[in-house]
Amino acid sequence: MKKILLLAAALFIPLFAAFSYQFVLADNDTSFLISGPETAFPGDPVIVTLRPVAAETAVTNGSITIKRDGATKNTSRAAVYKINSALKEPQYAAVIPLDSFTKPGDYSLNISLTLDSSKVFEKQIPLTIQHKDFVSETIQLNPTNTAIKTDKSTKRANQIERLNEILFTTNFDSQYMGTENFQFPVKSTRRTSFYGDRRVYAYSNGKSETSVHYGIDFGVPKGTPVYACATGKVVMAEERITTGWTVVLEHMPGMYSLYYHLDSYSVKTGDMIKKGEQIGLSGSTGLATGPHLHWEIRLLGVAINPDYFIEQPLLSSR
Ligand SMILES: [Zn+2]
Repeated sequence: MKKILLLAAALFIPLFAAFSYQFVLADNDTSFLISGPETAFPGDPVIVTLRPVAAETAVTNGSITIKRDGATKNTSRAAVYKINSALKEPQYAAVIPLDSFTKPGDYSLNISLTLDSSKVFEKQIPLTIQHKDFVSETIQLNPTNTAIKTDKSTKRANQIERLNEILFTTNFDSQYMGTENFQFPVKSTRRTSFYGDRRVYAYSNGKSETSVHYGIDFGVPKGTPVYACATGKVVMAEERITTGWTVVLEHMPGMYSLYYHLDSYSVKTGDMIKKGEQIGLSGSTGLATGPHLHWEIRLLGVAINPDYFIEQPLLSSR
């Protein structure tokens, strides 16, 4: 009996940890239900949803920042935007990225909203960042891969700039996934590198460079089908020096999934892709020490933990 109770408690903990905070903000005539997490790990997106109790209240402008207690600079920030979905009541959300280097400790979520073009709401909510361990690894690069990693050509610099331009763009009307979870981009679960790995690239000339791994590497043979992790729009499908044949999908405002080192792809920029639809075949093009799929998620330019949205959707379907 005791065992069963313990198991039940263990099953419930993740639910409460994910959405444990509910608060009603109110001045004389307006109130909001605000939901968000009490704790987060480095690499998590922090999802805060806001529902006006009076449906006619409109948020004209808003942002949420995350700041460490006692710090002068913000750790992260995101705009509040309206969810364009068939949800019963209007709902707003801010999805704030935490990178893998976020230090554990006490933080606050600072909510600032302008309502109906004039009234300003300010609210502070505590947030605890927990400790998370990341893997350390050394990657030995042969002369070919060393040449790619140290390539200082204008062509490579332009490719990096162009990809960053896409990843740092937030289109508030690009809301393609809403209440769905991610699926993995390959059927195999074999991982050869993890999100947030602290890397040392050992070059063939004896020099080295430290780096961090932004995505998850799945060790799959060349020619393995690669699927879209969620519904979205193709915003890049091209060959790049470092990442080889590359596909980038846009899913939500400022949120993108990236697929690197493909052997081929079957989509083009502008295509709308459903979750689970095949987008190409895995390979080892670009900087790769063997065949694998690199799968990465960016939110407002920040690489976040791709496993997060496998476990829970961005928004509940309430
Ligand atoms: Zn990788």
